[in-house]
Amino acid sequence: MVCPEWNQVNKDDYRGIWVYVEHFNGKISEGSLQLIGKAKELAAKLGVDVTAIMVGKDLDKLLMEPIYYGADKVIYVDDDRLSVYLPHLYAASVVELANKYKPEIILFAATKRGRELAPYVANTLRSGITADCTALDVDPKTRDLDQVRPTYGGNILAHIRTPTRRPQLASVRPNVFPTPPRDESRKGELVKEKLSKLPEPRGRYLGSKSITEEDESGLPPVEKSDIVVVAGKGVNGVEGVKLLTDLAKLLGGTIGGTKKVTDAGWLPTSRQIGQTGRTVRPALYIGMGVSGAIQHVFGMNESKIIVAVNSDPNAPIFNYVDYGVVGDYKQVTEALLELLRERKKQ
Ligand SMILES: Cc1cc2nc3c(=O)[nH]c(=O)nc-3n(C[C@H](O)[C@H](O)[C@H](O)COP(=O)(O)OP(=O)(O)OC[C@H]3O[C@@H](n4cnc5c(N)ncnc54)[C@H](O)[C@@H]3O)c2cc1C
Repeated sequence: MVCPEWNQVNKDDYRGIWVYVEHFNGKISEGSLQLIGKAKELAAKLGVDVTAIMVGKDLDKLLMEPIYYGADKVIYVDDDRLSVYLPHLYAASVVELANKYKPEIILFAATKRGRELAPYVANTLRSGITADCTALDVDPKTRDLDQVRPTYGGNILAHIRTPTRRPQLASVRPNVFPTPPRDESRKGELVKEKLSKLPEPRGRYLGSKSITEEDESGLPPVEKSDIVVVAGKGVNGVEGVKLLTDLAKLLGGTIGGTKKVTDAGWLPTSRQIGQTGRTVRPALYIGMGVSGAIQHVFGMNESKIIVAVNSDPNAPIFNYVDYGVVGDYKQVTEALLELLRERKKQ
């Protein structure tokens, strides 16, 4: 179905894959770099380049980074009016560039800003957006992007296509794809663009204060750690979570939880792993009292080694583990703590 209000597009006018590269406090978001890796795979199937799009102020130091991670080109706008992130100005910038260069695909990291910006851009370009994809592929014949995302509570995977519109836009949560290796010997083109019709700011920026939830563990965020110990409802309360936090500390990792645990307030929501939480791909995931509901599994099944302790031998989590223990999480955790403390003493 084509909306009669929208002009027809000629798909052949659109070529190339763009990744909107987000930066914050002088640092590029990991999720954007991961998309560059995926975009390269898709670009090879379509025979096109990967272009990173950067918008902001004082970008000089960051401009080569997307190229080191695999982009062929960076198109950027460095403008005083973009010194502060304001969604309608940033979106207008991306839209102006897209109207000029006509990419066939634009990918966004589904960070807080990406989730705001991507639909803004899609709507202005009169195209669709598939948010929170868990897989992406392309059909080299039709050049349609296969945008895969869980739906109906995670019970099915929807394959969404945008056969009549261009560009095709999708967002992907950080850590769904691995970060490609950084290679400083890579060369690429930097293209500076000036914007003609940036809209007037609709408000005055008064400064920002980051909103952080209280997190007493002092441990790194779940997406940033190579070892994640995860508390499920089976740990039965904050005492259980505390025990697992001690284990995470001794292992040099961090603590996460299922939705039931964060809903109960035993951990902050920033530590929830799963479809509506964070995606992790650590070297080691240890689930304690986690049943293994599909919505949780979506956020952890790319972990390299999965270990679970559950008192129910039929718990679905055992379908995903490398090592499974049928037993009481408390007994196992206490034994592990003792072992690790002994080792530390030696
Ligand atoms: C739209 C939607 C989105 C969702 N998003 C997420 C999400 O992002 N993340 C997420 O985690 N969930 C999510 N959920 C919820 C999900 O469906 C499950 O309800 C949730 O993951 C279950 O959490 P749990 O494993 O901690 O609890 P339960 O399913 O209650 O499992 C507890 C487990 O602990 C075991 N157990 C009990 N006592 C012990 C013991 N002493 N020792 C060892 N094991 C014990 C039990 O056998 C059981 O398997 C979502 C649901 C919906 C509908």
